[in-house]
Amino acid sequence: MTTVAAPKRASSKRADPELATITRLLAAGQTTRVNAATGHSQALYAKCPNDGGQSQVRRVSRQGGGAIFEVHMRCTQCATDFVAKPESLYLR
Ligand SMILES: [Zn+2]
Repeated sequence: MTTVAAPKRASSKRADPELATITRLLAAGQTTRVNAATGHSQALYAKCPNDGGQSQVRRVSRQGGGAIFEVHMRCTQCATDFVAKPESLYLR
């Protein structure tokens, strides 16, 4: 008996484990986490829309309860400020 993976569909929504982790982090009001497997701390980054450079979190907008609903990034290469959607964030 063989296991057949579900076919990947072209979709604008990413449903991978990392996005779930990022969504949880933002809901908890955090932009960093400790990887339980490696013990290393990770932070949220996004790619710059101009040059694809790694951009760091500059500031966040929070709801009353502390949950982050908007993440503002700044590119380390060209200093562009932009708002990153959760789908475009990644942990490193
Ligand atoms: Zn840039």
